[in-house]
Amino acid sequence: MKKREIEYFQGCLVGGALGDALGWPIEFMKLNEIKRTYGENGLTHLVLSDDGKAQITDDTQMTMFTAEGLLRAESRLTNKGICHAPTVIYFAFQRWLFTQGYPKKKDIDFIYDGWLLEIDRLFASRAPGNSCISSLLKDEKGTKDNPTNNSKGCGAVMRSAPFGLFLDKDTAFEIAIETAALTHGHPTGQLAAGSLAFMIAEILEDQSIIAATFNTIDKLRNENESIECISKLEDAISLSQSDLSDVEAISMIGEGWIGEEALGIGVFCAIRYQNDFRQALIASVNHSGDSDSTGAITGNILGAYSGIDCIPKEWIQNTELIEEITQLANDLHRVYEDGDEWWRKYPGY
Ligand SMILES: [Mg+2]
Repeated sequence: MKKREIEYFQGCLVGGALGDALGWPIEFMKLNEIKRTYGENGLTHLVLSDDGKAQITDDTQMTMFTAEGLLRAESRLTNKGICHAPTVIYFAFQRWLFTQGYPKKKDIDFIYDGWLLEIDRLFASRAPGNSCISSLLKDEKGTKDNPTNNSKGCGAVMRSAPFGLFLDKDTAFEIAIETAALTHGHPTGQLAAGSLAFMIAEILEDQSIIAATFNTIDKLRNENESIECISKLEDAISLSQSDLSDVEAISMIGEGWIGEEALGIGVFCAIRYQNDFRQALIASVNHSGDSDSTGAITGNILGAYSGIDCIPKEWIQNTELIEEITQLANDLHRVYEDGDEWWRKYPGY
């Protein structure tokens, strides 16, 4: 299957980072403000910071820690014979929380290691989502049966692409949902995360984006409380075939602050501009809502579909942490390697 080649893994994670970086400067701007600042067509180029790089935010940071957590869970499973992946990814999220300026948790102080913590740039705080921060600060872990809040914010779906790269589609769906439940108690927030993971896995099996969306809807029909996600995915498909402008269509899906809307906007943009990565990302961020998260999800989907070679080179060159993000994509693609070196890179906790 050609889609299993490494360029699609790289496209998925790098694509997400570019959408995040494109949308970040306008995350909190209304559309009229975006147009006033950047012109009638909105923001169509990366905004570079003082060091010449466009900045990624919590969406990409947490995606990186999700990927790291998955690889460390695999190390545990291979070496210990047993592993609960969401627990190992929970430790990865605690490392992310530490990068955001919060103290280490004393009862799990052994988990604060690994190569991501050696990257100074990852310690930047870029408007991290409140549901993620507040739930990770608690002593107890959220689960599907014992949620610690009722959030359906987009903070779970925006970080969930790596599940679809690393696991078969049904396992990706389940583990993405269980991992989402660590920080998001509402079923819709969890199902949006499972949906993105499932859809990425479908795309890697060579499905078109629209077929992957239909198959995700079918998958959701077997789940309780999935109507909100199903409805936004159906909207995304029908609106992508309509005569409505991008802005009009996106406004009918929502603003993307909540999981199912962010997913719907990402799917809409990826279907409508499936042959034009640049235009898909531009459409995905120029609205009054959560531009970096809708950009990240669009980039994940379309990057997995079209591969790294279809992503504008100058955007890749001008965005921070691309080398590290590519490294994670390569490691997710790689077959597990036994030995001390791999364990040192991805210890099983
Ligand atoms: Mg963000």
